[in-house]
Amino acid sequence: MTPSLDHEVSDTSERPVHDLVGVGFGPSNLGLAIALRERRAAGGKAPTGLFLERQERFSWHQGMLLDDATMQISFLKDLVTPRNPASDFSFLSFLHRMGRLHDFINHKTLFPLRAEFHDYLVWCAQRVSDQVRYGQHVVALRPVTRHGKVVYLDVVARDTAGRETVERARNVVLAPGLRPSMPEGVHPSDRVWHSEHLLHRLADLPAAPVHGFAVVGAGQSAAEVVGHLHQRFADLPVHAVFSRYGYSPSDDTPFANRIFDPEAVDAYYDAPQEFKDELMHYHRNTNYSAVDPDLIAELYRRFYAERVRGKPRLQIHNMTRVVALTETDDRVDLTLEDQVSGKQTVLTVDHVVYATGYQPVDIRPLLGDLGHHCVFDAAGRPSLQRDYRIVTDDTVTCGLYLQGGTEHTHGISSVLLSNVATRAAEIIDSIEARRATS
Ligand SMILES: Cc1cc2nc3c(=O)[nH]c(=O)nc-3n(C[C@H](O)[C@H](O)[C@H](O)COP(=O)(O)OP(=O)(O)OC[C@H]3O[C@@H](n4cnc5c(N)ncnc54)[C@H](O)[C@@H]3O)c2cc1C
Repeated sequence: MTPSLDHEVSDTSERPVHDLVGVGFGPSNLGLAIALRERRAAGGKAPTGLFLERQERFSWHQGMLLDDATMQISFLKDLVTPRNPASDFSFLSFLHRMGRLHDFINHKTLFPLRAEFHDYLVWCAQRVSDQVRYGQHVVALRPVTRHGKVVYLDVVARDTAGRETVERARNVVLAPGLRPSMPEGVHPSDRVWHSEHLLHRLADLPAAPVHGFAVVGAGQSAAEVVGHLHQRFADLPVHAVFSRYGYSPSDDTPFANRIFDPEAVDAYYDAPQEFKDELMHYHRNTNYSAVDPDLIAELYRRFYAERVRGKPRLQIHNMTRVVALTETDDRVDLTLEDQVSGKQTVLTVDHVVYATGYQPVDIRPLLGDLGHHCVFDAAGRPSLQRDYRIVTDDTVTCGLYLQGGTEHTHGISSVLLSNVATRAAEIIDSIEARRATS
């Protein structure tokens, strides 16, 4: 039996209703806001949208905006080009506006600096700022019922002073991103960080480090953090700790890259679960636990040069895992276990950076009672329709969409920028189609 909506609100109030309220304003919902604006500019009755973002201003993984880090995706997969190559919200339009178009062309690269792409995203966000409210942490979705059906959702947000506001929507698009993931039993502290917060932590160092750093992980972020710390703290050791034999290259070759195309989303969505798992296994190294080959070459160049000079600072602890961590006021002692010999050694560092990836945000706490009417699999992941609408029972007639945490249904591009532009169009099409038939 379907549980009742314990905290339902009857639809008696005169609250205005938005066609769409977006939760979170990272690249996914920013792409959606631009698509909404372009639809309206093209005429017709495109849906209206309001986006709520908990940060005080637009910001995209700023703790990892390392000076030399480049995008891991072609700039042509910006927020709009795959959907509308004529859009003036493209990365090329941004360059033109900044007076850097020719300089960029002469650079002959598809992969701009991450810092430059961040500036592009900020430029886009500023141009649709009428659709966004910052400093608004969405804490709950409350169903609004009429004749036993959930027709709207009240989106409850809190600002930094704890003041609550409520926005009513016919459709909610959740795009809360991913949350940093630490190994079980490891908790962030002043000395133990996740890579997501690297630059902020380095800016607030309590004292000059003396022992050096350990970086746990073998993916792109781990290699970037190792490179950054090694360059920035020129007298200190940097210990890279991972289970692999060596960093593995990310597969950026053209046939494999097609896994990020919109057509691949259709194929993945339609595939039986066993084949979904196989596809993910074949192409994991396009994105996970893999490092840009140029960065691998650069780290190796430094590693070898230090051996020639007899002063090895960049230390690779491969086939190694951390089995214990003891933190004191002035250091961290890591117990490392060699996975071949089983031998344990203690490594003393000032700080440990866990570059151990991300997990999708669990949306169930946000859904509250509404969650009882949504379908989740045994792993707690929502079931989704192809149009990114969360599958619900027929009590729910309003739209609840999810961007980002859909890798299990829509494939490996879900957490990336690859399909932000086309996905935005698909969601708006779905909202418009449902409006036309209701
Ligand atoms: C260091 C790093 C580099 C990356 N580089 C690339 C790359 O080069 N190419 C690529 O394709 N992908 C890259 N990615 C992947 C990344 O996930 C995507 O680029 C992108 O951030 C996904 O956008 P999003 O809007 O779905 O999520 P996010 O960017 O995570 O944005 C989610 C937003 O929602 C907000 N939010 C969450 N919960 C709430 C709430 N309850 N109320 C209000 N606001 C909320 C958050 O504050 C955040 O601003 C990178 C990721 C990292 C960590």
